[in-house]
Amino acid sequence: MLDFNNSFRAAALATIAAVSYDLVVIGGGVTGAGVARDAALRGLKVALVERGEAGGGTTAASTHLIHGGVRYLLYDRLTTHATCWDSGHIVRTAGAALTRLPILWPVYRGHSRGLETVETLLEEYDRFQTMKYGLPHLRLTPEACLRLVPGLKAEGLRGGLVFDEWWVDAQALAARVLDSARAAGAEILLRTPAEAILRDGARASGVRAGGRELRARVTINAAGPWADRVARLAGASLPLRLMKGTHLIWNDPRRVPVGLLLEAADRGRYVFVVPSPLGTWVGPTDLPGPDDPDAARTTPEEVRSLLDSVRLYFADWRDGPDRTIVGSRPILGQPGDEKLLSRDFAVFDHGVRDGVPDLLTIGGGKMSDFRVMAEAAVDAACARLGVRAACATHLTALDGTPVGAIPDWPRPSPALKRFLRERPRLREAHALAHLGGAFAAHLARRAAGLCPPRDEDAFRRRYA
Ligand SMILES: Cc1cc2nc3c(=O)[nH]c(=O)nc-3n(C[C@H](O)[C@H](O)[C@H](O)COP(=O)(O)OP(=O)(O)OC[C@H]3O[C@@H](n4cnc5c(N)ncnc54)[C@H](O)[C@@H]3O)c2cc1C
Repeated sequence: MLDFNNSFRAAALATIAAVSYDLVVIGGGVTGAGVARDAALRGLKVALVERGEAGGGTTAASTHLIHGGVRYLLYDRLTTHATCWDSGHIVRTAGAALTRLPILWPVYRGHSRGLETVETLLEEYDRFQTMKYGLPHLRLTPEACLRLVPGLKAEGLRGGLVFDEWWVDAQALAARVLDSARAAGAEILLRTPAEAILRDGARASGVRAGGRELRARVTINAAGPWADRVARLAGASLPLRLMKGTHLIWNDPRRVPVGLLLEAADRGRYVFVVPSPLGTWVGPTDLPGPDDPDAARTTPEEVRSLLDSVRLYFADWRDGPDRTIVGSRPILGQPGDEKLLSRDFAVFDHGVRDGVPDLLTIGGGKMSDFRVMAEAAVDAACARLGVRAACATHLTALDGTPVGAIPDWPRPSPALKRFLRERPRLREAHALAHLGGAFAAHLARRAAGLCPPRDEDAFRRRYA
């Protein structure tokens, strides 16, 4: 016999549980948070599911810099350019969360890059610095470097260059972006893993998460290094080249008075030392794999190599770290040497790639361009939804107040970026061709006495 009461209750519960959205986002790192915020500001009905805490994945394990990446100037110049451009928006809209961080790059006799090469790199970086409200570099004498950073090794020091970046508590940034999305109407479900991607025939139609069915017209996978694993929930895939990175952390927030970029013990690589309210961070390493981000672990070799690097410069840095943190960079699958991987991002339409319409993945990129990554993903979602609504994340601060547009800076051509992403040697040649010309011009300026003076006073005035 039918129990009408029970069947009625079950039907009612199913209706409550199966809510419909325009968009469901999987992943609440800085990228997914940006997607939810962008979509909500465009008036879409959006939900986001995150299996852990806001920004608790790769975002929390980053070096916490909003930067263009000086080192990409050596092999991926367009990423530095594009990232500085979007960092400008992040500075403009999340300004209060960011702190200006001067970073000293000390140069020693025998280093693989000499003072003039490093200064050329930073002169080139200066060309993009204004886009992110950064200040031009300064060149310091050895004596000024030693006054600035007591305890820094004096022997062989030839001088130092200071460049300007932004530090941010990355996990707190992701949480603030999620708060802003929630304020704009998004539903945010933390500690709620997506267990399945719902299907309606071939198409993706939302997620099952936390015992609920969140039906959606478009589903966006923003699971960072877990993106391939999430895509597989729908029988799709996303080739990534995950690169593991460890930091050592000392609780003392100001073990060094400024940030440092040090040539590592295994020459040619570099290590940041970053003083911050979260402690003094030393790292990161940059090593292949593993394919499963949950299996990424800090090894004793990583700890040793980071300690060796910092102790090369500070003889009294004897104690080990209070803790370590590890994360996996969600780098797009691409050919070539792992030292030359492009940090470009892309939106993947799994309808085209894998025959799963209405499932998109936003992959690759960096925290420093999460806003434009989100814009690209939501543009693609709007195209599928047939919605015409302009992005507003560059015009609205995280607290909801309007901000003016940034100047109309030139942007790199997306077609050229895409073309070079697949061609690592050409990408490197493109970057080195720029640096070659810049190096010659730098030497000519020096010979003519036209380089700015070594200016310790300017440093103190600027960062007092
Ligand atoms: C060592 C290191 C240093 C870095 N330093 C910098 C830096 O200084 N500046 C910079 O700009 N970039 C830096 N990056 C890169 C930057 O951290 C990443 O590009 C960025 O944080 C990626 O954010 P995301 O949201 O895409 O990924 P994540 O932050 O990893 O977010 C993905 C989220 O998806 C969630 N998830 C996974 N599976 C599911 C599921 N089934 N259901 C629900 N949720 C799920 C995860 O819990 C996670 O929170 C660094 C990266 C590393 C590893």
